[in-house]
Amino acid sequence: MFVSHLSCWDCGRQIPADQLVNLCTCGKPLRVEYDLDRVREAVSRDEWAKRPPGLWRYREVLPLAESEQPVTLGEGATPLLPAPTIAELVGLERVYIKDEAVNPTGSFKARGMTVAVTMARVLGARSLAVPSAGNAGGALAAYAAAAGLSAHIFMPHDVPQANRLECELAGADVTLIDGLINDCARALAQRKEAEGWFDVSTLKEPYRVEGKKTLGYELAEQLGWALPDVIVYPTGGGTGLIGMAKAFDEMETLGWIGSQRPRFVVVQSTGCAPIVRAFDEGRESAGVWEKANTVAAGLRVPGAIADFVILRCLRAGGGTAVAIADVELIRDARVLSAATGICACPEGGACLSAARKLTQSGWIKPTESVVLFNTGTGLKYAEAFAAYPA
Ligand SMILES: *Cc1c(COP(=O)(O)O)cnc(C)c1O
Ligand SMILES: [Zn+2]
Repeated sequence: MFVSHLSCWDCGRQIPADQLVNLCTCGKPLRVEYDLDRVREAVSRDEWAKRPPGLWRYREVLPLAESEQPVTLGEGATPLLPAPTIAELVGLERVYIKDEAVNPTGSFKARGMTVAVTMARVLGARSLAVPSAGNAGGALAAYAAAAGLSAHIFMPHDVPQANRLECELAGADVTLIDGLINDCARALAQRKEAEGWFDVSTLKEPYRVEGKKTLGYELAEQLGWALPDVIVYPTGGGTGLIGMAKAFDEMETLGWIGSQRPRFVVVQSTGCAPIVRAFDEGRESAGVWEKANTVAAGLRVPGAIADFVILRCLRAGGGTAVAIADVELIRDARVLSAATGICACPEGGACLSAARKLTQSGWIKPTESVVLFNTGTGLKYAEAFAAYPA
């Protein structure tokens, strides 16, 4: 294993990685650090390419000891599809869709959970808990079932039916809360200590980001160890964006890419856009968005604990942030699906809307290569599509 220690994303405090832990003592998220000099000696990117497909091929930059088995359902290795029809529609030469809908449980939450549940089990957890406004609950439920652990999911009462059903089918204990995901988090926090649950909320433990960072390794591998000019990312808690930025930094230290970075675009809904607002106002943290409301359940995150990391990533890399109205992101989810054959979720539709806006404004140049993320399957969003008929 190549992990050296954990360090705080904010205060820099270092702690050993051999314990089940949530946040730093300062209340901020913890980051997994690797001995990348040893990784460079141990493996090459060509060697990775020979291994079975999936995110565990990047084992040397994941936190699991060689002697341990991952809890896996076959996540990762999702297609990066050239989308010429979409490119033409938007006015670009090269657009790719990273289709995360084909992951186990139908979303890229599987990437985070395969690593988080694996590590929680290795480090001694028996019961896991998470607040979820959409796909995180189903992913935790599935991986907990695969691991033989119990899962406790706190969901808003108006969560899409499919998200609730998949949790129940996987044998998880579901508690419905009259409120938003932050109310769910509060209800969970009140019970977790007495119940002995380990909280695997977004960025409240160090390992979901490690799973999500494989998005960055996979993109680079699929593009022949080059990176796109622009990555358009539908942002809730920000795990994938933070993970990809971390992956790119690791790859540069490993000597596998240069210092050039994609510009990140954070996409949110106008009904819940705390990061967009903070970015526009030049703030270092985002605070909480009151009365958050959007059918894009993955974006219904009124307050993200790692807001400061997302904003840092955006500013350091010349990125930007865009909010899209629900009516528009649903329309573009339909356009994306019909033009490509993928099953786009509302969050994926929002990426298309953002790409169109930023190309029209000139922020994206026609010759630049752009990756849009379809983060989950549209099939779980019957209510959202019904609310905005074609
Ligand atoms: C969770 C989720 C998101 C947001 O992901 P973060 O990495 O937490 O920002 C986007 N889309 C879908 C479909 C999701 O389930
Ligand atoms: Zn700290």
